This record gives sequence, C-alpha cells and structure tokens, in this order.
Amino acid sequence: MTSVNKGPSSVVLGAGLMGRLLAWQLTRAGHRVTVHEAGGDDAQGSPARIAAAMLAPLAESAITEPSVVEMGRYALPRWPALLAQLAQPVFFQQEGTLILWHRQDAAEAQRFAVLLRATHEKVPALPKLQPLDSAGVRALEPTLENRYAQGLYLPGEGQLDNRQLLAALLHELQVLQVDLHWNSPRAPQDFAPGAQGQPDWVFDCRGLGAQTQWPQLRGIRGEVARIHAPDVTLTRPTRLIHPRYPIYIAPKQDHVFVIGATEIESNDLSPPSVRSTLELLSAAYAVHPGFAEARILEIASQCRPTLPDNLPALRRLGPRTLQINGLYRHGFMIAPAVLDAVLELVHEQTNTLARRLELRMEDAS
Ligand SMILES: Cc1cc2nc3c(=O)[nH]c(=O)nc-3n(C[C@H](O)[C@H](O)[C@H](O)COP(=O)(O)OP(=O)(O)OC[C@H]3O[C@@H](n4cnc5c(N)ncnc54)[C@H](O)[C@@H]3O)c2cc1C
Repeated sequence: MTSVNKGPSSVVLGAGLMGRLLAWQLTRAGHRVTVHEAGGDDAQGSPARIAAAMLAPLAESAITEPSVVEMGRYALPRWPALLAQLAQPVFFQQEGTLILWHRQDAAEAQRFAVLLRATHEKVPALPKLQPLDSAGVRALEPTLENRYAQGLYLPGEGQLDNRQLLAALLHELQVLQVDLHWNSPRAPQDFAPGAQGQPDWVFDCRGLGAQTQWPQLRGIRGEVARIHAPDVTLTRPTRLIHPRYPIYIAPKQDHVFVIGATEIESNDLSPPSVRSTLELLSAAYAVHPGFAEARILEIASQCRPTLPDNLPALRRLGPRTLQINGLYRHGFMIAPAVLDAVLELVHEQTNTLARRLELRMEDAS
C-alpha cells in the first residue's frame, strides 16, 4: 500500500452501492484501490441488491428535503454518462413516474399534489407534474384501461436495474484489477492513512455496518417482492397513493416487477413478514389484476442506512478518512451527486459541489 511512483492508494470499506461506485471511479482516476466487503461479491448484505432503484426526485419530494431533490436532479443526467463507461449493459429508462389512487383516496392525492407543486417553487428546474384524466392514464399505460379516473404524471423521472448495475460495477473492478477482499469486515480504525505502509485514503461506505463508529445511524427496514408477470405491461414506475399501502411497482426488463416497499423503523434483518407480503401483493393486484397470475421470484428485506434527519452526510474521521452514509431510501437517486462531491474533495480539496448541493459535511476528527 505504499505510494512509490504511483497514484495515491485508497481503501474502500463496503462494496454496496457507494463503495462499488467510488472504488471504480477512484481506480479510473489513477488510485490504487483496495476494497474490503463484509459479505460476498453478490451484495447480499446490501439494500442496493433489493432496491427498486427508482430515480424520482419529484415523487420523493413529498417526503424529503429540497437538498435531496436537488441531488436527485443533478444525478439524473449523470447516470447515463456513468453507465456509458461500463462494459456491461445496465437497463436505464427515463419514462417518468405515474401516480395513481383509488377514488376514496382523492383527498390524500390532493395533499400529495400540493406538496409536489410546492417543490416546483423551490426547485423550478424540475419538469412540471401533469394532472391526468382517465384517458390520460390510459394513454400512458393502456393495460390499466379505465380503472383510474385520475392520475399524475411526473415526466423525466427514471429508474435503472440495480442488480445489473452492481454486477457491471463488479466486472469493472475485476477488469481494472482492483484488490478485492470479500468476507473481509474492516473498520476505519484498522488503518492509519498517511503512515508508512498504510493507504493514503480510507473511505467508509459500510452503510449500517458503520453504526459502531457512527451511532446516530439507524436502519429503516424495507420489504419488497420481485415478481414475473408476463400478462402485465407497465412502461414506467407506478406509485399508488393509499393510506395504508402506499406501494410502488417498478417494471424492469422482461416483465419482471419490483413491488415495494414497507418502511419500518427497525434494524430488523429477519425475513419479510406475512403481513407485509400480503399488503404488497394485494395492493399490486388492486393496481392491475394481471398480477394474480404472476410468479413470485423473491421476497426480501433489508435496512436502509439512515441518519436522524434522514439526510445523507459526509463525515471526516481524520484528514484522510471519510465516511459516506445516510443514503436512506435515495441511494440510487443521489449516488452520482454524492460520488462527484467526494471525488472533488479528494482530487481538488474543495467542497464546492457539496456546498452547492447542501450535502452536509461533519467533522469527527
Ligand atoms: C426495499 C428498499 C428499496 C429501495 N429503493 C430505492 C429506490 O427506489 N431508489 C433509491 O434511490 N434508493 C432505494 N433504496 C435505498 C438504497 O438501496 C440505499 O440508499 C443504498 O443501498 C445505500 O448505499 P450504501 O452504499 O451507502 O450502503 P449499502 O448499500 O448498505 O452498502 C454497504 C455495504 O457495506 C458492507 N459492510 C457492512 N459492514 C462492513 C464492514 N465492517 N466491513 C466491510 N464491509 C461492510 C455491507 O455488506 C454492504 O455491502 C432502497 C432500499 C431498500 C431497502
């Protein structure tokens, strides 16, 4: 790990979403990178493996702050640029988000629309939401027929295939001969960056695994179903406004759908509950009866790494030890923004982008 005649050496802890992206981009920038991941190369220990990977800053503005919306807006055009650097294809689309509700939930839908309109005032560069009547819903998603009298369309929002992305990033790391250590849990205190024989930088991307050093982190449990429904065609992520089952359905390739997700304050990593499974699948069936004959590929649970204010943050543990965490339910939506802010810190020793995006920087050194 010495830095004789070569670029800086970096250790990345955690190979979930941020760890893989950062290890890849640092290597491309000339760093000699070592990765330590507690689990295997299949990302089983990471919420990124089960996520819907929707890139929906306007839809998410109903539950998050303008800074995260801005990060999401920044990240959307960065994704295709990043994906173009990968050898393996990753499904990415920007067909917008469709919001639906049943008649009895019209008041809740109204409240949601008010929140999104307020977002426009704060982030005017976002595409405007479009109210839809029954014909408008049918024009966007013909297989929903006339089941919905109203809807909302959020143009320009995106999604990608999380598993293809994780696999494609792994492939890049292997091709670039990054020093990969699986089943190798580590902590920042295992390293002394800058000392003789030690890396120049340590990046802690361990998600909830960082809880012992960052005790404010908590888990927010999410349960999802992955199903194959050859009888259903949906072109874009569809969200259902519902007082008890606010689900989304994210259509991936080949009639695979990710239906999610519960949101439970808990670090509980046990398998999905019967109740959550029933609720997710019943709500999906209510959106489209074609889901009745779908086949269940997987029902999974994971915990989203979350800070007390539900916002992401960078945290210095020392001059060259940086923690990146708190991505909560927006990891995919904001990852390119967080990545670029970190790369700017490392390469230019400035935090212009972090400041512009209001990405919080803490100092615990
Ligand atoms: C059900 C669900 C749905 C979601 N849907 C979306 C969505 O639609 N859009 C969106 O933007 N986001 C979504 N997310 C959120 C997204 O998945 C997370 O924000 C993202 O995965 C966080 O990335 P991360 O790299 O910070 O952490 P993680 O992905 O948690 O990765 C951390 C990694 O560190 C490893 N690790 C832990 N301890 C150690 C250790 N001691 N040493 C080494 N390695 C260690 C873990 O094994 C893991 O691989 C969803 C999450 C869930 C659970």
